[in-house]
Amino acid sequence: MVIVMKPEATEEDIQRMVDKVEAAGLEAVLLRGEKRNVIAAIGDKREAAIDTLAAARGVERIIPILSPYKLASREVSPGVTPVRLNGEVVGDRKVQVIAGPCAVEDLDTTLDVAESVKEAGAVGLRGGAYKPRTSPHTFQGLQEKGLEILHRVGEHVGLATVTEVLSPEQVELVARYADVLQVGARNMQNFALLKALGAARKPVLLKRGISATVHELLLAAEYILKAGNDQVILCCRGIRTFEDHTRFTLSLGAVAYLKEVTHLPVIVDPSHATGRRSLVAPMAKAAVACGADGLLVEVHPQPERAKVDGQQTLTCEAFARMMDELRAVAEAVGRTI
Ligand code: PEP
Ligand code: MN
Repeated sequence: MVIVMKPEATEEDIQRMVDKVEAAGLEAVLLRGEKRNVIAAIGDKREAAIDTLAAARGVERIIPILSPYKLASREVSPGVTPVRLNGEVVGDRKVQVIAGPCAVEDLDTTLDVAESVKEAGAVGLRGGAYKPRTSPHTFQGLQEKGLEILHRVGEHVGLATVTEVLSPEQVELVARYADVLQVGARNMQNFALLKALGAARKPVLLKRGISATVHELLLAAEYILKAGNDQVILCCRGIRTFEDHTRFTLSLGAVAYLKEVTHLPVIVDPSHATGRRSLVAPMAKAAVACGADGLLVEVHPQPERAKVDGQQTLTCEAFARMMDELRAVAEAVGRTI
């Protein structure tokens, strides 16, 4: 259940409620909001405790939450929880676009793409320094050198940097360089990593696993939230189905559904979802139309020479054109870009 405290509840009221929840044998997780604070009471003894808790001072109402993702549920927080991207926010009216190469390759290419995507309206620069490749024989990323390049370019151009972290041991190092820590699809249920990211003081971009259900995605987010980090962005990047005309299948129904059930912002990665350059802009438009809070897009000055994922990567010019086209779509659904 979730205990919503009144706006005027004092710190003492809140602490007393936390103590009561714990005394009832439940775990109390305090979520501080801008307007009011809520306490999630987690455990099996819900019904037993409800009456005594409801009578306490400072309590506005108690909402029994039956869904297993108690902290990610929209019932906890009716609006969208804004996730900070440097000066910008994901989860507000403006659709935020993060763009860049699949992998950081060198300083000049990264700078080139960063300047172009910034000019076209992106707020974030993506680029993998540690690449989770299907084959161990392919390019694995520039590693710490890649983090340095991404950081330098992001600062120089004025873009928030987003890069993948592969293991719990890497969290501290990657967090030193990057603004947002990405959990790749193949790591969505790496629970040790999710817990470590919960303790990190940086926003997390959590990608849906290629064969994970939406329910499992929300429970993965729950690990990060429960460990104390409410800055989580969910990312739909396509799932594996029987269909093989695209690299993966982009379920936009999942995006619309997530917008109904969770307060976490939801973004879409049309690049990995389709695996085809020509389909990136159409699916980006569809994603914005169905309520996505942002996009994650692969862009490279010369996609045919990209070390990774060139076939699904837009040129800088194609990215700028897509951004122009997206403006009309965003406006049609009451948003900006
Ligand atoms: C990526 O964003 O480059 C990436 C590896 O994505 P995913 O984990 O979705 O495959
Ligand atoms: Mn990629």
